Amino acid sequence: MQIVTAKSMEELVSLCKRRGFIYQSSEIYGGFQGIYDFGPLGVELKNNIKNAWWSSMVYENDNIEGLDASILTNPLILKYSGHEETFSDPMVDCKSCNLRFRADQVPEKCKKDDLTEPRQFNLMFKTNVGPIEDDTSYGYLRPETAQSIFSNFKNVIDSSSKSLPFGIAQIGKAFRNEITPRNFIFRVREFEQMELEYFVKPGDDESAHDDWVNKRLDWWENQGIPRKSIELYDVPPNELAHYSKKTIDLMYKFPHGLEELEGIANRTDFDLGSHSKNQEDLNLTACVAENKHSNSKLAIQDEFGKWLVPYVIEPSAGVERGFLAILNESYAIENLEDGKKRTLLKLMPHLSPIKAAVIPLKKNNKEIVNLAKKVKNSLQKLSLGRVILENNGNIGKSYRKHDEIGTPLCITIDFDSLEDSSITIRSRDTMEQERVKIEEISDIFKKLIIG
Ligand code: ATP
Repeated sequence: MQIVTAKSMEELVSLCKRRGFIYQSSEIYGGFQGIYDFGPLGVELKNNIKNAWWSSMVYENDNIEGLDASILTNPLILKYSGHEETFSDPMVDCKSCNLRFRADQVPEKCKKDDLTEPRQFNLMFKTNVGPIEDDTSYGYLRPETAQSIFSNFKNVIDSSSKSLPFGIAQIGKAFRNEITPRNFIFRVREFEQMELEYFVKPGDDESAHDDWVNKRLDWWENQGIPRKSIELYDVPPNELAHYSKKTIDLMYKFPHGLEELEGIANRTDFDLGSHSKNQEDLNLTACVAENKHSNSKLAIQDEFGKWLVPYVIEPSAGVERGFLAILNESYAIENLEDGKKRTLLKLMPHLSPIKAAVIPLKKNNKEIVNLAKKVKNSLQKLSLGRVILENNGNIGKSYRKHDEIGTPLCITIDFDSLEDSSITIRSRDTMEQERVKIEEISDIFKKLIIG
């Protein structure tokens, strides 16, 4: 059997639409640029990716706590974080075609003489908050989840008695008014981030940074993206964000090219220092703007009672980029011996949108369908993800569909099942079929999903 991994973006987009992973938002009105909706299978895959991240961060590390902060953000947070001033791209307008472009991405057809001088364009979405619309009644949709972790730093340590090193993890929506959203869900205006802010003693930051790069590579490997598919990009000093001492980007070869999947930054004491009062007492190493509004000192006492402002290591991954990379990595077309082809998603079982499909051989046979429902319900009760009853009466078609959406296990109930309580299980990856007893199916299923 020959495997062809033809992975153009068009193939993935078409599969996502056809099978209900991802739709263009507001499609019935012609779409909404840079915004996508996740369909019945997309929401399952997305939740599974987020759950895998959350488990590996919060449940597997007793020194990491979770957070779910608001999306609407007080402008003071984004003033002192530097976003109001620096979160922008230089833009030019073409007087001939009346379109706006990023200054470094002007198409050749626009003549230089027709372009305006570059102007800064802030990427944050500003919105009115409250009943009066004036200069003081606004907020922002957060452009990253990180800032609310910093602004809740004191709340979390006061309520959970943490000592260094410890982390706060958050998954949630972020919004950026990208000038040119593109490449399907790679660069969008509304997306989700999975961010950890890991607080360490200054001096321990460099080794913690190295550790997190390795841990994140291992995590992606566990999601089906092998180490060899990721390149490390040590961001050069002239490209570093204003808060960063060092950033390693994990670069993945998406169908449109090698691009950032996740960034792992050493943010020093910039953020906690920026959001603190009485900064002059804190011995900060980062250069921060004077804060005239904060009522809090975002510092922690070490084992000798000395106050210090921790350094922060931040692994920050986009859920959509992870989704696209996982989809791309698992997509395969196999040339079968009989000359036919089959498309399949070789997703890791814990990520599969549907964990098992139970298929009655005869769609109108009550006894077979009832037994199939019983098997489905017994597997569903294990709470390992979605199990469905696939009752379309065409077994070949059902297998093809479940290969294509990545269901690792199909279970067929036939006439013999009614007599001898045995059922046929079929593996997505090998297409091998095996006859097993109904009472064995729970253990087989658990082993497949949990390992
Ligand atoms: P890029 O250089 O590609 O714009 P970035 O360096 O601005 O990304 P960060 O601010 O470090 O990105 O955000 C952390 C992560 O959030 C990125 O690694 C990416 O996975 C995700 N992300 C950022 N912007 C977008 C976007 N517009 N659409 C989808 N995901 C995004």
